[in-house]
Amino acid sequence: MVNNFERLKKELSQFPKKTLGFYPTPLQKLEKMSEKYGVSIFVKREDFSGMSIFGGNKIRKLEYLMGDACAKGCDTVFTYGATQSNHAMQTATAARRCGMNPVLYLAAIVEPKPEDIRANLLLDRILGAEIHIVPAAGGDLPEANSRSFELAAQQISELEKEGHKCYDIPLGGASTLGTCGFAEGFMETMEQMQAMGIRPDYIITATGTGGTLSGLVAGKKALESDIQIVGVTVSDKPEDYPAKIADMANRVLQLLKDPHQASQDDFMISRDYYAPGYEMPNEEANDAIRELARTEGLLCDSVYSGKALSGMLGMIRKGEIPPGSTVIFLHTGGATALFAEQEIIGSLTRP
Ligand SMILES: *Cc1c(COP(=O)(O)O)cnc(C)c1O
Repeated sequence: MVNNFERLKKELSQFPKKTLGFYPTPLQKLEKMSEKYGVSIFVKREDFSGMSIFGGNKIRKLEYLMGDACAKGCDTVFTYGATQSNHAMQTATAARRCGMNPVLYLAAIVEPKPEDIRANLLLDRILGAEIHIVPAAGGDLPEANSRSFELAAQQISELEKEGHKCYDIPLGGASTLGTCGFAEGFMETMEQMQAMGIRPDYIITATGTGGTLSGLVAGKKALESDIQIVGVTVSDKPEDYPAKIADMANRVLQLLKDPHQASQDDFMISRDYYAPGYEMPNEEANDAIRELARTEGLLCDSVYSGKALSGMLGMIRKGEIPPGSTVIFLHTGGATALFAEQEIIGSLTRP
């Protein structure tokens, strides 16, 4: 094991990384939830990553991506997401920290009201990001995203003709380099568990673009860990989503010159908890958010972490995660979405 840890650390240290967050993020036991469910539940606080209180799982990826952007001498950073994208907001903070201009192409599933700009979109405004809203007609996010990529590509080529240097970050920061951040995140978590002398059985995360999940899978393979990794989807995903996650994990392993191979057997995908769709709340997730808040004083959001939490509790209740197990809940952040539009938070306003 020691050799695998050292090898992974050495490979990761070859990339120019920009320090943006506060790592290692805390790992804590949820005592009351553990007692209630008969399962040892730990929470890995990726919501607590910094650099402001509005951190989250994208900061780890951005340390690698912005390190690359700085090394390449870029002055402008492009990225994409929904209007309430945590990733876009975290990218804007990272770009400012590195002295670069953030340009955001944001697909509007929920049309923001010009007189009532909220949550992440408000933060993007304060950060002075150049914001392009791309309407998602009929909620067709993939179509709006492809239109965003085309418009941005045009703008990038114009800016580069004027002598600017642009860094283009994909949705969720889920490039191979960005995804390396979660191979590191996996290693960090396992080192924390080892220091406590506890062997975890499961690690559970919300999964969107899949960068976080595939980075964890790459870390698991590199360290030859036998932990079960569960990704709870936050939107409808194509049939080949697990194959894509395994591919991404393998690209990370290749970039890290690691001899291990990942396959679809190295993780589980649960598609049972996202309904009705991305940025659309459901009652089970909102109940789970209230339960965690009222039991532990810890907050999740209704777009990502609340759906993952509802997935974890659902799997425990059904016995899919057996009593006596040790589970790590990866809290990916996103609490800013609690201040988003009513359509996004749903019943959370109820007493
Ligand atoms: C982006 C995001 C995720 C999903 O991460 P991916 O790497 O895109 O799969 C989960 N939770 C929160 C709060 C996020 O912002």
